[in-house]
Amino acid sequence: MFLREILNPVSNLKGAGPQVSARLARLGIINGADLLLFPPRSYEDRSVKRKLADFAAGPVNCRVVVISHDWFGFGRMKTLKIWVMDEEGTKAALICFNRPFLEQSFPVGQKMELFGRFGYKYAELQSSGFDAEAVPEGQNDNTELRKGALRAVYPLTEGLNQASLRKLVSQALKLWAFLEDEIPPSLRNKRKLLPKAEALRKLHKPESMAEALEARRSLAYEELFYLQIMVAKRALARRLTMREARLPDNSLVSAMKERLGFELTPDQQKALADIFGDMSGPWPMARLLQGDVGSGKTLVAFFAALYAVSAGEQAALMAPTELLARQHADTAARLLEPLGIRLAYLSGNVADSARKPLLAALAKGEVDFIIGTHALFSQDVEFRSLRLVIVDEQQRFGVLQRMALGSKGSQPDMLMMTATPIPRTLALTVFGDLSVSTIKTMPPGRLPIITHLARTGNEEKVYEFVRKQMALGKSAYFVYPLVENSDKLELKNAEAMYEKLSKQLYPEFRGALIHARLPEEEKRKTMLDFSTGKLSFIAATSVVEVGVDVPRATCMVIEHAERFGLAALHQLRGRVGRGLDQSYCFLVWSEKLGEEGKQRIMAMKNMSDGFEIAEEDLKIRGPGEISGTAQAGALKLVFTDFAKDAELLEEARMDARVLMETDPDLISKEGSIVSSVLKKANPFSGHEAAVVGQA
Ligand code: ADP
Ligand code: MG
Repeated sequence: MFLREILNPVSNLKGAGPQVSARLARLGIINGADLLLFPPRSYEDRSVKRKLADFAAGPVNCRVVVISHDWFGFGRMKTLKIWVMDEEGTKAALICFNRPFLEQSFPVGQKMELFGRFGYKYAELQSSGFDAEAVPEGQNDNTELRKGALRAVYPLTEGLNQASLRKLVSQALKLWAFLEDEIPPSLRNKRKLLPKAEALRKLHKPESMAEALEARRSLAYEELFYLQIMVAKRALARRLTMREARLPDNSLVSAMKERLGFELTPDQQKALADIFGDMSGPWPMARLLQGDVGSGKTLVAFFAALYAVSAGEQAALMAPTELLARQHADTAARLLEPLGIRLAYLSGNVADSARKPLLAALAKGEVDFIIGTHALFSQDVEFRSLRLVIVDEQQRFGVLQRMALGSKGSQPDMLMMTATPIPRTLALTVFGDLSVSTIKTMPPGRLPIITHLARTGNEEKVYEFVRKQMALGKSAYFVYPLVENSDKLELKNAEAMYEKLSKQLYPEFRGALIHARLPEEEKRKTMLDFSTGKLSFIAATSVVEVGVDVPRATCMVIEHAERFGLAALHQLRGRVGRGLDQSYCFLVWSEKLGEEGKQRIMAMKNMSDGFEIAEEDLKIRGPGEISGTAQAGALKLVFTDFAKDAELLEEARMDARVLMETDPDLISKEGSIVSSVLKKANPFSGHEAAVVGQA
């Protein structure tokens, strides 16, 4: 009963009219659960008393008496000014913008508890951002300052202040003080977690910081626990779908190994063994193949495709951009077609006249391996027997997209690839039900990329260096944060810089401009010319970020490097160093480098391992920002701090697994309640889907 109520819109609360509700909605607060699970940004400590005279040391926190009222301004702009005095006789003015009603609440002679930052303005000690409460009649001056020394400080939105948000939260806490518990009592005791209602009260109205932390821990555990339950459920569900184990003959696989002209690295071999093991097992594969850019994942994926084809079934590879899909298709044509594999390529740009026969062939089983973009999961795409789905750069895809492709077969094997390594904690959360193969070592002969930093203004030296490389027949990427000129930001853009590079700096070399808005055909032509050496350089936006493989490129110049995230920088740098020659990455940063930007650039200078970089990224950005990134998929956990909650995550993971095995009914009963609440409160709504999508 209570749970249903908690999902009622916040507008049911007193003081939450249409206007306030609309503002709350901007903060993502729609219903009671959203409000109760809205985490304070920080807490204000009101245990320290401070007289008006000591205003410079911090917020004033003392008892005062109202000595007079004053008004300034005219008409609708008229503003109330309440003069107060503390017991030491210091006077100050409270400027009541838009709060004329305070005249009634605080008549002359009224005692009040005052909290707020004060400063001198117009030779008066004043504050406009104060918080005041009337001291009830008859309460003597020695009574303790009101209870609840810590005040929650919430992230705000325009038109909503701390006081009104606090009032709404208090109301909600009272209304739902008897909230049911959602974690089984045995686990609550074992992990020393607070009951739900208590956790919420201590989150919003803690008596001490320790209480606030305790509350956060309990709520984080709950998030992680139910997430892990969902992950475990998916894993179990997959195991329920048994299938006939198949051991195809592996002559195609050996034939391809012979064609390669090089040996697979030990990590590639290990990954392949994992994959073949899964694919011949009784359950559909759900595996994440992670490995730094250039570590040779694509090749492994091709072997997996061969395996499916050997079993007389079909494989599909989906890439996030047309450029990348094309590149995979070209590589496949080179490696697989000679083995007799029937390939097809599909993107949104394939003309109808070609698309129709292609789809017919696919449905009849006359195509073995199809490579393409998200066009692969269009409604009209049908397979005769889809056995394997490979998703390249999976973090680039939405959950639903991945799911859509998977649903085109009956329980196909899924191989997800990523070059954006995921810190372990995140991996356990988002990809908790996936098996993981990791390629750590690079193919032999690769030299580590040398990274140089240059400040804007010194980039001439960089251009000079690159010129010498190009003169040796090497190629270079120049990457800019913007496509065209922006009025707002004084940043170099790809278009203007392409002009400069081709006309002023390198008139003797051929180059081209490439960015996402150009027609696919043009992009493809440019990349082809670039990879065959017809072009010495390209000026680009981050379209070259993912996957592009041009071994002859040895220079990567990233201007305004501070504008790129660590993961993007790492990906960009990975575009070079793919051949046998020494490669270089130049990070050109501007004067306006912020603290975070500095940390990112230094991390790039000092680190080359993608996993290390990913951990560093987590540290720099903190958990708050992880939520919004494509990297984390739909991950949006409100109370969990990935940098700190690794242990809690492990505990929740263990508990969820044990419970799923010993008492799954308990969870399905309680889980349904909880997830309905939490879904509304948003952490899981996308998440459940994410987990489904992985499975
Ligand atoms: P990723 O997809 O992991 O970024 P790719 O599969 O594109 O990496 O591989 C990068 C390059 O390395 C390709 O040109 C590929 O042919 C080559 N390569 C892959 N595996 C090996 C290996 N074992 N030995 C030598 N070169 C390899
Ligand atoms: Mg790749």
